[in-house]
Amino acid sequence: MKKYSCENHIEHALDMVVAETESFPVMEILEEEEKLSTKCSYCEELATYLVSS
Ligand SMILES: [Zn+2]
Repeated sequence: MKKYSCENHIEHALDMVVAETESFPVMEILEEEEKLSTKCSYCEELATYLVSS
């Protein structure tokens, strides 16, 4: 699974991925290009991070 997150929701995103997958998440910082076209999964801000497992 993959979740996108802004600066404010990164801890929430990590918690959600751990809760849903029960495995350790990987956090990546998005490329500039991706940041501009991707919204946070939890609010309307642009995403900064990708959390996956
Ligand atoms: Zn957010």
